[in-house]
Amino acid sequence: MTIDSLISQYRLISSFLNDRWPLKNHEHRTFARTMKIMEELGELSDEILTSMNLQRNTKIEKFSRTNIEDEFADVMGSLILLGIELDIDIEKVMQRKIDFTRDRFGMDDEK
Ligand SMILES: [Mg+2]
Repeated sequence: MTIDSLISQYRLISSFLNDRWPLKNHEHRTFARTMKIMEELGELSDEILTSMNLQRNTKIEKFSRTNIEDEFADVMGSLILLGIELDIDIEKVMQRKIDFTRDRFGMDDEK
């Protein structure tokens, strides 16, 4: 899967979500997408804590690595949905940040 394909698929999901749960305007959708990131980040945190045996036994007993992977994907997906709502060119800004980080730490240009 390429980033282009990932974002294209999330554009379809975004369109579906906007039809299924119509919100009043861009501001409300931005708020909802931001809250969804927080929800999914909480779920990922819960799974990480569980993986470290820092949750109650009933959660630890049900733990599998797939739970962490699924919640990680939910966080990434919800971030992409926010980026789509904010009309951010995700690939472009990620490359800009990677370049910034490589420059900041003097990393060579080999990728
Ligand atoms: Mg989730």
